[in-house]
Amino acid sequence: MAGKYSIGVDLGGTKVLAAVVETKTGKLIATKKKRTKQANTQETLIQRISAAVDDAIELAGLETNKIDGIGVGAAGMVDRQRGILLAAANLGVSDISITRPLEQRYGVKAQLGNDVEVATYGERYFGAGQKSKHFVCVFVGTGIGSGIVVHDHYLKGQTGTAGEIGHTKIFPDGRKCGCGGYGCLEAYASRLAIAKTIKSAVDHGQPTMVSGKIDMGKGILRSSTIAEAVEKGDPVVSDAVKAGARYLAWGLASVVNFFNPERIILGGGLVEAVDLYYDVCKQEITKIALPIPAKNLKLVRSQLGDNAGVVGAALMASSRNGKNR
Ligand SMILES: [Zn+2]
Repeated sequence: MAGKYSIGVDLGGTKVLAAVVETKTGKLIATKKKRTKQANTQETLIQRISAAVDDAIELAGLETNKIDGIGVGAAGMVDRQRGILLAAANLGVSDISITRPLEQRYGVKAQLGNDVEVATYGERYFGAGQKSKHFVCVFVGTGIGSGIVVHDHYLKGQTGTAGEIGHTKIFPDGRKCGCGGYGCLEAYASRLAIAKTIKSAVDHGQPTMVSGKIDMGKGILRSSTIAEAVEKGDPVVSDAVKAGARYLAWGLASVVNFFNPERIILGGGLVEAVDLYYDVCKQEITKIALPIPAKNLKLVRSQLGDNAGVVGAALMASSRNGKNR
């Protein structure tokens, strides 16, 4: 018989978050966050994941044999069948086996998915997607990713990479994108793109309160810093946020026209922290999408926030996932 608890792991470029999740309710029993570093080997990466998992299990006060399974959502391209992380630019690794060493260590089944995929599972079962069978989750961070649910099925696509909305082409010969291409949505609407717009204004002598806080080397301008500047009426930051939000709305209008979803769930630090970004996007999208698919569209914020990934990863690993649910 299936157990009550599963482990969810959200493996990102800078942190690994592990959680013990009650799979019937999606409730977090305990969580542990650890930093990750570039240039991980398989050994160091598995060690970091295991250290976070061990701590989460201990904090939950559970025996390992009460755990039903382990799900990992990784920021990168994955081979779900073999449990291999094929490529993860932010972690500096490729072709790393994730599930097998975890199965050997914990004696339960482990599953690997993409980070956006597992966050979409989390929202689907316990967040903003609960009442919907046709929705798209869009997560805005350094880049922009999305998970697509059509007729209650997660759409993976031929090579398992469906949902790369950040690389939707919105400008011929436009800005260079991290993917190597040009004119992609995320080169205009992501947190990194907004930071670049602000940096360019600073370089042109426009004053802003965040000028000393932009680390363009890492593309870092924190969402909370952007939110604070907007609240204080900083015109450079507010204009950059509005421009980014309008671009996002243009990208999402194509999603509305193309997929005709019931709802679009927006998540990620920028969406959560900066009301202006969310509000402008919401206003704009209904103006520019086709009227009939836009008519009953609900644009909503993610309900699980940062925890969507670990909740969804735990569900993926549990027998409660998908058709067995
Ligand atoms: Zn791109």
